[in-house]
Amino acid sequence: MFLQRTIRKPVRIDGIGLHTGAPASLTFRPAPANTGIYVVRSDLPGAPHIHVSAEHVRATQLATVLGGAAFSVSTVEHCLSSLAALRIDNLLIELSGPEIPIGDGSAAVFMEGLLAAGLIDQDEPRKYAYITQPIFYGDGDKHAYVVPYNGLRITVTIDFAHPSIGRQQLDLDINETTFARDLARARTFGFLKDVEAMRAKGLARGGSLENAVVLDHDSVINPEGLRFADEFVRHKMLDALGDLVTLGMPLMGHVVLYKAGHDVMNRLVRKILESSDAYRRVELGALAPEDLASTSYNEEFLIASGNSPFASATGLTPTFRNGGNLR
Ligand SMILES: [Zn+2]
Repeated sequence: MFLQRTIRKPVRIDGIGLHTGAPASLTFRPAPANTGIYVVRSDLPGAPHIHVSAEHVRATQLATVLGGAAFSVSTVEHCLSSLAALRIDNLLIELSGPEIPIGDGSAAVFMEGLLAAGLIDQDEPRKYAYITQPIFYGDGDKHAYVVPYNGLRITVTIDFAHPSIGRQQLDLDINETTFARDLARARTFGFLKDVEAMRAKGLARGGSLENAVVLDHDSVINPEGLRFADEFVRHKMLDALGDLVTLGMPLMGHVVLYKAGHDVMNRLVRKILESSDAYRRVELGALAPEDLASTSYNEEFLIASGNSPFASATGLTPTFRNGGNLR
């Protein structure tokens, strides 16, 4: 069984805001079991807060924006992806101003901060949204769906008509190890022409080659180049993982995305929440073998659920990369 998690102690992260270019800081604070994730503006009267949930997602073109009665905050997805990967259920994200620090455009600064604070299990079991039937959302040539899977797995395909990007695909079982190795350091990216248009509107004043991969008409202009040959699809998976936090509960399923950005992710999350007959709220360990999705398995899930068909027979736990089929 997995217990809910928070962090051991507060940790502060300083940086600059992407849009204002002004100093921005964030403090992660522990929260009691069954709280969920909240963004808090400690600098505003009454310290207003927003619950991180799909109903509070306001605009989704370039970044995920959470909006409440008193304030809104943009580009939350990089911070949220670290929470999903580290399985943090309860946390306050306290801001000292309008923006989350952009860091280097990846999730690295948030992951490092959370790990430095330390993670701690709480007294309550974690309840997953365990997908039992496929849920699909499509919009033109973009689509997103989730199917049953004993773990959290994401497959992302992107296709950009740019010589440095093109078609890229990535398929990962999400856990702390794969996130740290394959996703956390992948930076956001943008096209020079869009950056210039945003600057003309007074946006992205803090944006620079220090916090984004920037492409001109035929190449990456950052002098250091890319961190991964397929950094673009890795960052898109990081974004998708962050957006999944707006579900309000950890997901057990296989999410498949094709050309899907924040808008499509938000639609998928809303559709999952509306499809109460297509998922169950479960604690690992409470699932009977006949309840398990029959398609594919993830090692971490088998161990935690106590349902490994091999552990008892051989004393060994098999490793199935990317959900090897046991049937
Ligand atoms: Zn992003």
